[in-house]
Amino acid sequence: MKKLIDKLEKEHFLSKNEYVCLIENFENVREYAAKKARTICERVYGRDIYIRGLIEISSFCRNDCIYCGIRRSNKNAQRYRLSKEEILECCDIGYNLGFRTFVLQGGEDKFYTDEIIADIVRSIKKKYADCAVTLSLGEFPTESYALFKKAGADRYLLRHETADKTHYEKLHPKEMSFENRMRCLRDLKNLGNIINVASALGIGTTGQIEYDIDNKQQLENELYENAYKEALKKAQVILGKTDLNLKNPVTITDKSYGIIQP
Ligand code: SF4
Repeated sequence: MKKLIDKLEKEHFLSKNEYVCLIENFENVREYAAKKARTICERVYGRDIYIRGLIEISSFCRNDCIYCGIRRSNKNAQRYRLSKEEILECCDIGYNLGFRTFVLQGGEDKFYTDEIIADIVRSIKKKYADCAVTLSLGEFPTESYALFKKAGADRYLLRHETADKTHYEKLHPKEMSFENRMRCLRDLKNLGNIINVASALGIGTTGQIEYDIDNKQQLENELYENAYKEALKKAQVILGKTDLNLKNPVTITDKSYGIIQP
């Protein structure tokens, strides 16, 4: 097993069978892998901690992805969207708290036209030249991504959820397509963006995404509901520990994998 970890470190690649073998026997190399990961992390980032100001700009979405709390068919979701002024106000608060990266994230809300998004990005970059801006607003045509980049967006976050078309179709409404998702990812890669690879093949009750390499796990609505309830509970605990007096609903991230919206 250690050889597989070494190979992954050196070549950044394993075959499917090797991944399966690694996952099935991971307990045997957990410590070894963690030590390697720590060494690489410290080599790249040192002992510094980087924090990002995540601004959830809209909870409206035209899509209906099965795992998502703000999917359009969820009648219990609280809907809101932030104006440009409110977004800039969040940046002010974040900048004073020491954030130097802002992530504007939201559902696919057509209220925000390409020009509105580009204008917001320009305004943030103008005011905070030392800050990076990341967008996470879903699928757009090629020209829109290019416009955002030109306006100053440093990164675009779009998840590569699955490389399996059948599986993709189980997760998404029929108006979304696997081919379009792949086109978006290629566009973003060509623009030099970082793609966030997420394996949304099964979601446990902790809300943490678990990997099931052979798509064996059934996607059950109940699991997603539990995950969402767990996330809400966590949000309440986190909110209780802060003294932030924010006017609008704000997203709080819990570690790197869960996004919790109070
Ligand atoms: S496009 Fe994004 S925000 Fe909209 S329903 Fe799908 S996952 Fe949720």
